[in-house]
Amino acid sequence: MQSVIGVDVGGTLLRSARFDQNLTMIERFEQSTEAHRGSDVVIDRLAETIRQALPESPDDLMGIGIVLPGPLDPENGILIAPPNLPIKDYPIAQQMTEMVGGPVFIGNDADLAGLAEYSLGAGRGYRSIVYITISTGIGGGLILDGKLHTGRGQGGEIGHMVVDPDGPICGCGHYGHLEAFSSGTGIARIASERLREGEPSLIHEMVEGDLSRVTAKVVGNAAKQGDPLSVEIITNAGRYLGVHIASLMMLINPDAFVLGGGLTKIGDLLFNPMYEAIRKYAMHPRYWENTPILPAKLGADVGLVGAAALVKMRLEQ
Ligand SMILES: [Zn+2]
Repeated sequence: MQSVIGVDVGGTLLRSARFDQNLTMIERFEQSTEAHRGSDVVIDRLAETIRQALPESPDDLMGIGIVLPGPLDPENGILIAPPNLPIKDYPIAQQMTEMVGGPVFIGNDADLAGLAEYSLGAGRGYRSIVYITISTGIGGGLILDGKLHTGRGQGGEIGHMVVDPDGPICGCGHYGHLEAFSSGTGIARIASERLREGEPSLIHEMVEGDLSRVTAKVVGNAAKQGDPLSVEIITNAGRYLGVHIASLMMLINPDAFVLGGGLTKIGDLLFNPMYEAIRKYAMHPRYWENTPILPAKLGADVGLVGAAALVKMRLEQ
């Protein structure tokens, strides 16, 4: 049976899975990354994790897809500078081909989550989708006319597009990016600053005065209890998300948006101001009237599925 191998490399876990050619998962494996032991150990463990998933006969291997944290160069298979791995400027695709066979293709986590949702999840059946994941950071994946679009390899960085040039500093060190307003890190940072300035809020009590414990989840929970400061911060996060989606609608005019990531659990407090902003800022109702904004479907396996889908897409090209 022809097999596709999907691999997910994270700072904590290395995971692999064997899929059939319709992307049905057959078997999966995982082990710890041991990032603190350095690059050689991580590379050996990665090769071992992939070998576990390989089909018995090398003739049955269609290819191996690896999802990695960015930034990376997918065309040349090079891992550039992932924040949570001890590996820099490394030709990982070529190295894995030598160690376990191939062909090997790589892609970044948000791009491949988008491709997974397009192939088997909420975006299935559409021609073009924009995937946005809202968690610690904000990532994006563009699938345009059935192809993952990364430009020269680093495109699709939806979280680092500017929504307000006078806005706060982003995790990447630049100002006014969407991620600075609407990500978990951004929401926690804005809330911490306002609390430090002495604004009254339920949050003081919820974290027992320890501002290092302020997270987006705490702010979301306080907002659900009607805390005015938290409602304002979450409303603003939703509004900037909507402003951004309105801009993307006019640039790309996709069939659908798919939203994933832990912050979507905040729900209507985030989404109502998002929809309001989309309607207010899009040039014409045509842009949003028939453009569904769907919740992501795939959960924890999204990386493995995306990596396998990447192999199929690249082999078909
Ligand atoms: Zn940024």
